[in-house]
Amino acid sequence: MENKKELRNWLNAFNLNHPLVIAGPCSAETEEQVLDIAHQLKDSDATVLRAGIWKPRTRPGNFEGVGALGLKWLQKAKEETGLLISTEVANANHVDLALQHDVDVLWIGARTTVSPFIVQEISESLKGTDKIVLVKNPVNPDLALWLGAVERFYASGVTNLGVIHRGFSTYEKTRYRNNPEWQLPIDLQNRFPDLPLILDPSHIAGRRDIIFDLCQTALDLNYDGLMIETHHNPDKAWSDASQQITPATLIQYTKDLRIRKEIGDATEFKNKINTMRTKIDVIDHQIIDMLGKRMKVADDIGELKKDHNVAVLQTKRWNEILGKMIIQGEDKNLSEEFILRVFKAVHQESINHQEKIINS
Ligand code: PEP
Ligand code: MN
Repeated sequence: MENKKELRNWLNAFNLNHPLVIAGPCSAETEEQVLDIAHQLKDSDATVLRAGIWKPRTRPGNFEGVGALGLKWLQKAKEETGLLISTEVANANHVDLALQHDVDVLWIGARTTVSPFIVQEISESLKGTDKIVLVKNPVNPDLALWLGAVERFYASGVTNLGVIHRGFSTYEKTRYRNNPEWQLPIDLQNRFPDLPLILDPSHIAGRRDIIFDLCQTALDLNYDGLMIETHHNPDKAWSDASQQITPATLIQYTKDLRIRKEIGDATEFKNKINTMRTKIDVIDHQIIDMLGKRMKVADDIGELKKDHNVAVLQTKRWNEILGKMIIQGEDKNLSEEFILRVFKAVHQESINHQEKIINS
């Protein structure tokens, strides 16, 4: 990984020639573990060491973090390695303790961003400090909650802000632990173009093997940084074992990741077009996904029609759908002719599916 576009606001001060890398374990476990990982990260592109001290587990009974004691270990790691240190804060008391221990970067977890009460409390407790605060997206795909949290920090005078995309929870099982929904952070960035955007591929993936590809997609979308869970012995980690990578793997990944350089007009043009193309790829992927879902419902309808001996083609209903789609399409500047062609094709595919089901 080398060179990077013009970095934004507080990131400028780091004077990096590559995207910001925040690395470290999901949780601080022991002093030796924190120090061992920190020393290995000294040879990487990481600027900031991360470790959870207070771990919000979805269900009780799992390892819930070592608590304030871990802040001493982080402080020691900072002294010994020069890395900046970061941890998650979930209430005003956490903030006080983190400030007492010279934590440089505080992040707001996904389970906290969902609560305007707690976000308000945390933002007020940070008034008058110049700490860097990174706001993770809320657990659920709700842009307003994410925007609202950012706005609360700004309103409290906390301006060294960034956001972390860590994926969104879905009821459906997907290949991800948390679905990336790439469009949402793009929408957020449209609202706050100067807010550094960081990807947390670890919590999106939930597994090691797709972390590299997620990082590459983020860099293709011009993200400003990566937060990657890194552990000296990932399989033995006390939390999130299956998604952590070793410092050596992190070093290899950052060597292999491609970053676009923004130098000169021609390159800038290419960068812009590549970013836009990646956005198109994301949307095309969503279209296929939605079409697949639609077809699955059509299949279920096919089964129902078969059980009740009903004809596949329901002309009246179909004409109603088309009429609505044409009106909706007009709103989005899509011609009637285009809508007709697309939906006739979609409808034909549904009919083909249902005929197969009824004749099976
Ligand atoms: C974490 O970063 O370890 C964490 C708990 O993340 P999230 O809030 O994204 O689940
Ligand atoms: Mn974790």
